[in-house]
Amino acid sequence: SWHVALDRVSVIYPNGTRALKDVSLRIEPGEMVSIVGLSGSGKSTLIRTLNGLVQATDGSVTVGPHTVNTLRGRGLREFRGHVGMIFQGFNLADRTDVYHNVLVGRFAHSPAWRTLLGMPSAQSRDIALRALDSVGMLDKLWARGDALSGGQKQRVAIARALTQEPSVMLADEPVASLDPPTAHAVMNDLRRVNRERSLTVLVNIHLMDLARQYTTRMIGLRDGEIVYDGPANTATDAD
Ligand code: ADP
Ligand code: ADP
Repeated sequence: SWHVALDRVSVIYPNGTRALKDVSLRIEPGEMVSIVGLSGSGKSTLIRTLNGLVQATDGSVTVGPHTVNTLRGRGLREFRGHVGMIFQGFNLADRTDVYHNVLVGRFAHSPAWRTLLGMPSAQSRDIALRALDSVGMLDKLWARGDALSGGQKQRVAIARALTQEPSVMLADEPVASLDPPTAHAVMNDLRRVNRERSLTVLVNIHLMDLARQYTTRMIGLRDGEIVYDGPANTATDAD
């Protein structure tokens, strides 16, 4: 599992918006951290800076052994193979069954044609099935993507990310489009993944209650700056 560090990172978008201002933080391997703040406070930008989707304008971004802000091309692709990403929108293939949706996570590790032709290695198969078991979706193996509820889709997306055997998991508003009970279930899955695999997990949430309940450390952003960094369970809205 990897650590994550930002050292005096600023992000200024081409239109001049300063989305992160001189942000420094360090997250140890195996931590379960929430990033909270109002819409527009810089949460997505922070996550995207960590996977190299957004370039830091200033400062340095380190994830495990990689200095992300210096990676390009092949090095960046290889790095992303080790980063599990979860989005609000799930991004599953509708007409493809759960099993093959999850096997896609092996692209980074075995030739894509094997997966596309339905010829995954025995190891890939085992890893995919174990991942689906972790999120309680083994019984939906042959269901098509479009036959799943939002919560089930997000669990399959988590399984797909786990199938990459990631060293860190980044989740950008993973429960924002789910109803409260389903949001709790998905947060619970993320926490289980964090504990069982000692996997570093960073999750953006705009709901403080979920952050308090399911993460151990909370980082609060306001206008691109860290205004809180501490235990999640004692953090108040005023923080
Ligand atoms: P969120 O608040 O959940 O990040 P937004 O609605 O702010 O969602 O953003 C949706 C998309 O639009 C994102 O890809 C984001 O990068 C982009 N975006 C947000 N604000 C701007 C902006 N001022 N100019 C251009 N793109 C933007
Ligand atoms: P959050 O995830 O907390 O909603 P974001 O990181 O999406 O915050 O946005 C932080 C700020 O950067 C906002 O002012 C937003 O409008 C702006 N922003 C986000 N993406 C872009 C973009 N691609 N281009 C320009 N501005 C953006």
